[in-house]
Amino acid sequence: MAVATEMAAATPLLKTCFTFRSIGIDSKIHCSNFKLRYRAAPIRASSSTAAPADSKRIKIRRPQNVDGDFFVDDTCINCDVCRWMAPETFRRSDGKSAVFQQPTCGERRTKALQGVYHCGYHSKKSYGAASYFITRPEGNILIDSPRYTKRLSSIIKKMGGARYMFLTHRDDVADHEKWSEELGCPRILHSEEVNSSTANVEIKLEGTGPWTIGSDVILISTPGHTEGSVSLLYKTKKVLFTGDHFMMNEFGFTISEAYNWFSVPIQLNSVKKLLEFEFEWILPGHGRRARFKDVEDKNSALKAFLASKGVQT
Ligand SMILES: [Zn+2]
Repeated sequence: MAVATEMAAATPLLKTCFTFRSIGIDSKIHCSNFKLRYRAAPIRASSSTAAPADSKRIKIRRPQNVDGDFFVDDTCINCDVCRWMAPETFRRSDGKSAVFQQPTCGERRTKALQGVYHCGYHSKKSYGAASYFITRPEGNILIDSPRYTKRLSSIIKKMGGARYMFLTHRDDVADHEKWSEELGCPRILHSEEVNSSTANVEIKLEGTGPWTIGSDVILISTPGHTEGSVSLLYKTKKVLFTGDHFMMNEFGFTISEAYNWFSVPIQLNSVKKLLEFEFEWILPGHGRRARFKDVEDKNSALKAFLASKGVQT
């Protein structure tokens, strides 16, 4: 499965050497930009957000990298982003990312998902989670929070700004306040997820929903990872944004039980609930994306996952 971001096309993604250009799930790596950026700043593939003092420190190349100009340094936080975005270049080695094959100037393309964008600029404050932006006639929506940068803000504004900022849960909120101020958009977060850093969120969801935003977006209560986790279904494109509720890792579907802050059984039940909804893509905050042939294929995959966990469907 390929990945990328149109918004990152004009901007460095994660401050790495990569520039990904694409719409949604289409991807293209511009090696000329990579080389240009490499001269300016060696890659820090998995960690883009070290503190300023940290950024002055000399970066040490991890010995697990293969020889070549492109490498992961020792500030990697093992957030997995480089591995799912460029699995042909990165893999995990001794608990962190490493380049196992130097990138080439080849171009990869897969079918595009128009109107769905991966923002890039993953923030350490959100544990490296992905954030997304969808453009729609009824108002664009920023889903979870990228790291704030003027450049990304400018791109989003040129694309029409955001009508709402939707936060799936408490963990992936990063620079939400700054984005909300800058874009003038109200934030949406379930009341169970509100804490001192999100106390000023404008729209607090109550209860178990579902809630709607216009005619084409459904907010689905999917508790388990946290008590008030909510997934966003963009019906027009059949895409489900799951935050940290449900995702793929290198081995298949997972609910990441190691990072469960509320209830694994409730989280599994929330996965079961997704059988009721029509979607063909899963775009998570962490982990890999999933694409299904159709809704039946999606249901088969979810049922197989649930069966592996002893959940009857
Ligand atoms: Zn989380």
